[in-house]
Amino acid sequence: MAKSKAARKVLDSYVIKGTHKVVKAGDCVLLRASDPGNPPYVARLEKIEVDGRNNVKVYVRWYYRPEESMGGRRQFHGAKELFLSDHYDIQSGDTIEGKCTVHTFKSYTKLESVSAEDYFCRFEYKASTGGFTPDRVAVYCKCEMPYNPDDLMVQCEACKDWFHPSCMNLSQEQVKKMDHYVCPDCDSSGQQEGDKRQGNGEGGSQLEDSKTWPTDSGSQDGEKKSRNSHRVFPRSEQKPEPKKRKR
Ligand SMILES: [Zn+2]
Ligand SMILES: [Zn+2]
Repeated sequence: MAKSKAARKVLDSYVIKGTHKVVKAGDCVLLRASDPGNPPYVARLEKIEVDGRNNVKVYVRWYYRPEESMGGRRQFHGAKELFLSDHYDIQSGDTIEGKCTVHTFKSYTKLESVSAEDYFCRFEYKASTGGFTPDRVAVYCKCEMPYNPDDLMVQCEACKDWFHPSCMNLSQEQVKKMDHYVCPDCDSSGQQEGDKRQGNGEGGSQLEDSKTWPTDSGSQDGEKKSRNSHRVFPRSEQKPEPKKRKR
């Protein structure tokens, strides 16, 4: 019964059962959920191994869907958003049912069309604490929420902030027809340079980089972080509670 360790072998690739699709370490794969009614799990393949009896084992790093995270799904989470977790596992190669692509946030927003196999990831997720990296992201609009790529937004020409039509009492149709948009704050301040955001006392939105939607505030210099401190989404203070993914 004891399996010889020497019989184990690392494979360069694996053909998904019942398909001609080849997956390799580094690829993102869909794994059959234990409950067939649920969407497949998404994971990154770390290693493929075969034992002496031809059983293929895959070492995976799970992606979590927002609803599987401790904080649950939030309004700014995209429908195809995933978090790269620190939760590793070993699964049978048989559970792989397909291949998928997990884009960066930026490349996802540039896709011409999003197929069922397209996902995106902008956060790493620590399964034991519920913590995210980066732990702060830029926010937009009056509602001060991070960007949800599924939602239509309109950019103010003056302050360069982005706004949800609904938050500005506009319909999606009105916004789509607009060539130019100036938000009410900028409009009432006569579009003067400088202090466009009255009342926040911090010189307004330093969001000149917001068009590229980087959420990497942690890797930037501290200056950027502090001057934007009122415009970030705090996402800490969650209670540790280890999560197990059952199969
Ligand atoms: Zn809004
Ligand atoms: Zn404005």
